Amino acid sequence: MQLNVPLTMPQDFDPQPRWHPHLWHPTTQVATAPVPLRAVAGRGALLELDDGRTLIDAISSWWVTLHGHAEASIAAAVSAQSQALEQVIFADFSHGPAERLAERLSALTGLERLFFSDNGSTAVEVALKIAWQWWHNQGAERRQLVAFEGAYHGDTVGAMAVGARSLFTTPFDTWLFCVARVDWPHTCWHDASVETREQAALEALERALAVPTAAVILEPLIQGASGMAMVRPAFLQAVEARVRASGALLIADEVMTGFGRSGALFACQRAGLQPDLMALSKGLTGGFLPMGVTLASERLYQGFVSSDPMATFFHGHSFTANPLGCAAALASLDLLEACPERYGSFEARHRPRLEALSRHPLVRRPRCLGTVAAFDVAVNQPGYLSAVGRQIQRHCLAEGVYVRPLGNVVYLLPPLCLDEAQLERCYSALHSALDQL
Ligand code: PMP
Repeated sequence: MQLNVPLTMPQDFDPQPRWHPHLWHPTTQVATAPVPLRAVAGRGALLELDDGRTLIDAISSWWVTLHGHAEASIAAAVSAQSQALEQVIFADFSHGPAERLAERLSALTGLERLFFSDNGSTAVEVALKIAWQWWHNQGAERRQLVAFEGAYHGDTVGAMAVGARSLFTTPFDTWLFCVARVDWPHTCWHDASVETREQAALEALERALAVPTAAVILEPLIQGASGMAMVRPAFLQAVEARVRASGALLIADEVMTGFGRSGALFACQRAGLQPDLMALSKGLTGGFLPMGVTLASERLYQGFVSSDPMATFFHGHSFTANPLGCAAALASLDLLEACPERYGSFEARHRPRLEALSRHPLVRRPRCLGTVAAFDVAVNQPGYLSAVGRQIQRHCLAEGVYVRPLGNVVYLLPPLCLDEAQLERCYSALHSALDQL
């Protein structure tokens, strides 16, 4: 006789979590990191694990899950596109989803030309290469790039070079080309010294721009990976004025801030900037598929149109303009356009809760913009390697909330579908995590 016992756990549930023998996880030190959680499903703001737990994804799975996991209209659009045209080489071909996406993003950003790639780093690489070659095509001698302290633009070599030097870049420092670097006068609530620091940064920028400069690259309003470091719109407007006066190009890396994250559809709009180039990824496809795009002005595009083959932008990726990614991006834009209040009102939802949290004695430098709320935890040794982040993560996990602090910088960056009760849970988990430190 056999007992018919119903399965209570998913079939591949592993009662003793361990590292998979054939996987290599990103930015993970296996010797010290906890074994990865195993996800089996995602819906809305929730991730379901193979042990039956559900977690609130309070950081949108590395800032990509824009509307929520498994958003039905995006899933349907991807599914329909996969049955029509899943992929086609984009060198000798074009297709409707790419054309529609280019038309819509051009109208929304004021940048007429769209170049596809695969992720945020490549979107930045493409922006740098377009800027550099544009000057080269004109025979102009502009050999300098300017970037900001603390910047993070991706993990490929060019993107690393314009990013700040850090523990991420140390082994590769000799590979990375030189960049003129200007302070990023990041601010927080009740910041008394911001104007002085902004002024000093603008003076440093003017000095840097005295050297003929091809382009200045920045993350508008929020530097993400360096610790949700926020600057004021007026500072960025003053930066743009100086960039324009010098004739250099302005590159906005909106890989993190794009698609409502800053409270406006694009942070450049909220900051009052009109860049020459813009890099987008992450939320572009609503977090469904890896895709990056670089938008460029018509003026730049025309600098590559020539009977001389050497003026061509010789850059392309196998999956350029993948139709599934385009279909996801179009469906995601539909959602953003249908409900702009979802991202427009998020800051007002964060603010009172962050205010309450900021009264905790361990909270420093509270700040909030759009869907992003952040603070520093007061520790002796701040920085990316601070153990406090892991402690807070562990505690929040026990409370059913997934966060991934950047060292001692704790932040929330949730999907737009997060409801009030879920947001409340995120803050209460952070509060009790701080209490336990
Ligand atoms: N730029 C910014 C501002 C980013 O935040 C990131 C990723 N965190 C990147 C570029 C790189 O994007 P990806 O990880 O998709 O290569």
